[in-house]
Amino acid sequence: ETAADGELFGRALAMKLLRPRARDSHKGSFGSVLVVGGAAGTAGAALLAARGAQAAGAGKVFVAAPDGPVFDPGQPQLMTRGFEAGHEGIDAICIGCGLGRSAKAGDALERALRSALPLVLDADALNLVADDPALARQLATRAAPTVLTPHPLEAARLLGVSSREIQSDRIGHALALAAQTGATALIKGAGSVMALPDGCFSILAAGSPALATAGTGDVLAGVIAALLAQRMPAADAARLGAWAHGSAGELWQRSHPSGAGLSAAELPALVTSALAPA
Ligand code: AMP
Ligand code: MG
Repeated sequence: ETAADGELFGRALAMKLLRPRARDSHKGSFGSVLVVGGAAGTAGAALLAARGAQAAGAGKVFVAAPDGPVFDPGQPQLMTRGFEAGHEGIDAICIGCGLGRSAKAGDALERALRSALPLVLDADALNLVADDPALARQLATRAAPTVLTPHPLEAARLLGVSSREIQSDRIGHALALAAQTGATALIKGAGSVMALPDGCFSILAAGSPALATAGTGDVLAGVIAALLAQRMPAADAARLGAWAHGSAGELWQRSHPSGAGLSAAELPALVTSALAPA
């Protein structure tokens, strides 16, 4: 039954989701993304998510980090927010990249889950949910668009199974995670799978082992948040974001056939190229 509800999501479907920018648009037309993450020692994870959001067309990108403001000298347009500040003017939140699992981090996640804003949960936000039943309940009762972007180990923690079990049935576990949380679930890795609570799923027909290096997942989380901020439904934002990210890896591998040596900081520009109409 599930197989009948699945599709291979490739370039043709991705291109259908692209919308040209109106000539009279302004930065407010493309939404503001708040990236919550980047604790001391992993500031770069939040900055990579912020670059991903910028690359996917967000009008404005803010970063709120728990241990004080973090800056990206190569991206001077990024703005900072106080970690405890509210969500005024924000259209979508990306939370978890390099966030850590402090009490402060948990409080910020609780506030994000309680908000009515579209949300991407990645990395430590997923680990915090896996460890705290109260946060898991908060996630399950959300009505706003919500995308979870676990790699297999994060998915394993959320479902209480081993990552080997996840890998032995990636579609089944993506569907289980979507059903358990009521969210759009994207299990990453070679052959990324997106699943919805209603039992539909997509297999992403793009990707490259070049992406198997630190920080690439953070870029993806920011990309999906930017698409949500531009009012794209969660399922489309997850699919288009994951497809563009996988295609960016393929583009990089064309000029680097071994696939080795990609820096995650190079990916956002390639995501922008992948998001251009063919
Ligand atoms: P993370 O583990 O959170 O850093 O995310 C890694 C990102 O790289 C995800 O988007 C994965 O789908 C992607 N990735 C890693 N390894 C591969 C691979 N062998 N083939 C395709 N995509 C990959
Ligand atoms: Mg990650």
